[in-house]
Amino acid sequence: MAKYTKYIKRAKELGATDSKIIPADTVVTAEWVRIKCQFGCGGYGRRLTCPPNSPTPEQTRKMLSYYKNALLIHVNEEVDINDIVPIIEKEAFFDGYFKAFGIGAGPCYLCEKCSKFCKHPREARPAMEACGIDVFSTVRAHGFPIETLSRRDCKGNYYGLVLIE
Ligand code: SF4
Repeated sequence: MAKYTKYIKRAKELGATDSKIIPADTVVTAEWVRIKCQFGCGGYGRRLTCPPNSPTPEQTRKMLSYYKNALLIHVNEEVDINDIVPIIEKEAFFDGYFKAFGIGAGPCYLCEKCSKFCKHPREARPAMEACGIDVFSTVRAHGFPIETLSRRDCKGNYYGLVLIE
């Protein structure tokens, strides 16, 4: 695991509160996550990174089966996890981890209006929840905090994942 220490340090340099290497088979996927995207989120169908364009829970489960380790990254509400994830994905790729793939949080806001073809393919990545990942169960199993936010002034915890190898 020492070979991944540089990514933990890098995530902190980029503004993460914390991060840790987790086994990829501890990432929880569930069908209900996508249904919550479809019914209850105004972003459904509006971004190339969101359902129904993003991987289904079934596709994500299959994809995860090709990986052993991933970097789970925790940020607070002052930091955009979607800025950190593509940087670490790219650095891991250039280190030789050719399967490196980043997954962020929330809709992609790189463009005001999304297009038919992505204008920022190097940076735009789907959110964990958009891929059918149960973020609550996944991060809690690794000791990270997360709660439902009952008021606008509640402090948020956000997460991203970089599948490494
Ligand atoms: S970068 Fe632009 S075009 Fe690509 S998914 Fe994000 S909003 Fe859509």
